[in-house]
Amino acid sequence: MIDEKLQPILEQVLQRNPGEPEFHQAVREVLESLGRVIAKNPAYLEQALIERICEPERQIIFRVPWIDDKGHVQINRGFRVQFNSALGPYKGGLRFHPTVNVGIIKFLGFEQTFKNALTGMPIGGGKGGSDFNPRDRSDAEVMRFCQSLMTELHRHIGEETDVPAGDIGVGGREIGYLFGQYKRLTNRYEAGVLTGKALFYGGSRARTEATGYGNTYFIQAMLATRGQSFDGKKVVVSGSGNVAIYSVEKVQAFGGKVVAVSDSSGYVVDQSGINLELLKEVKEFRRGRIAEYLDLKGAGSGAHFVKAGVGSIWDVPCDVGMPSATQNELTGKDAKTLVTNGVIAVGEGANMPSTPEAIRILQEAGVLFAPGKAANAGGVATSALEMQQNASRDSWSFDKTEARLAEIMRTIHDTCASTADEYGAPGDYVLGANIAGFVRVAEAMRALGVI
Ligand code: NDP
Repeated sequence: MIDEKLQPILEQVLQRNPGEPEFHQAVREVLESLGRVIAKNPAYLEQALIERICEPERQIIFRVPWIDDKGHVQINRGFRVQFNSALGPYKGGLRFHPTVNVGIIKFLGFEQTFKNALTGMPIGGGKGGSDFNPRDRSDAEVMRFCQSLMTELHRHIGEETDVPAGDIGVGGREIGYLFGQYKRLTNRYEAGVLTGKALFYGGSRARTEATGYGNTYFIQAMLATRGQSFDGKKVVVSGSGNVAIYSVEKVQAFGGKVVAVSDSSGYVVDQSGINLELLKEVKEFRRGRIAEYLDLKGAGSGAHFVKAGVGSIWDVPCDVGMPSATQNELTGKDAKTLVTNGVIAVGEGANMPSTPEAIRILQEAGVLFAPGKAANAGGVATSALEMQQNASRDSWSFDKTEARLAEIMRTIHDTCASTADEYGAPGDYVLGANIAGFVRVAEAMRALGVI
């Protein structure tokens, strides 16, 4: 339910941003949490502050022409939405996926603003990407595409302005090509302009692992509030990209057993526990499809593959669910199945992977539920640590960086929990995350005046 004072703001957002359902969904979820805030502090309704938070500071859309290996000219569309810079330079990843459009990038940038605020670090919110599909493209094609995208994007970014990173379809390879072209165009070795770089040219240890590890730390903190831990728990992780792989790694380190992972072609169930080395071999080295895991595991291993559309990965019984693929992948029906199968906790590794109906069902059933803007904030937090290391020309050990990540995730957990308590909704991490993130951004915006 949305407070009646906030309803006109939502209606204005819907009217000004037609055909952008993901953006509408993200705004609605935050506004639903803010009724209790404006009741306590009506000053947030002044100076169109909430309306301004819902409107990106700047949106850039551009043509990205490039030449494929056959010599044909291809055209994609590039996006950068610079959502909010009240707390620091815009910060947020680039997504390369055929489904990318301005509404998706706006939802991601909006979420990112509150997520970055929750980290307590001096970073604003932004997001970008392209409808380019890197799948089945050669390295040379990916390089030419990245160079063309950066030829336009470089005008809009900078280490004090806007600092992109990776997201779906953008990993270490793409960040390398993007950074190379930025360096060439600007004639500056401005390491802090992009994060997610490889270690040997300014990257941070533990950045690759950070989002998956961070979500695992967050869930561990939630489980601890009920005297539980990952030890001996069955876990399902959707996706098999960056976030998913390092969630599997950390869950295993904490004594849990991951029994299923997926990609867009389907999911693999391995009740003996997903073999991390084989998963990395398929996804990180071969850039293959998840079904190839079975070929490596060998006949008679007991593992099996279910094609996309035939079933849902959330049909696999588990104690903990970690949706780590994409938005709206966990539906109301999936949530009902999870509850029937006795799930205890769900932590969102991906951005907005659960539908509003799914969240309601999980929360009503008393399942510990961590929203993405809190649970997956470890990635951007470690990106901010990468910026710190770049600024001080320093390079920290893995242990030091991971210890900072763990501390940040504990603090985000505690902030969400205490904010939910303060606003009369104990255990509601969605409300806690939305309010705590909002208040930090809103206070900065009030201090900066109407800009
Ligand atoms: P990757 O590209 O490394 O992996 C994405 C995974 O999700 C792949 O297994 C992919 O399968 C699957 N996937 C993507 N789109 C779909 C779809 N439409 N249907 C089914 N499966 C899909 O991305 P990341 O791991 O980096 O990102 C995953 C999620 O985590 C995203 O929501 C992202 O925004 C979020 N996130 C990422 C952060 C990071 O640091 N990387 C930080 C915070 C959030 P396939 O290969 O078949 O497409």
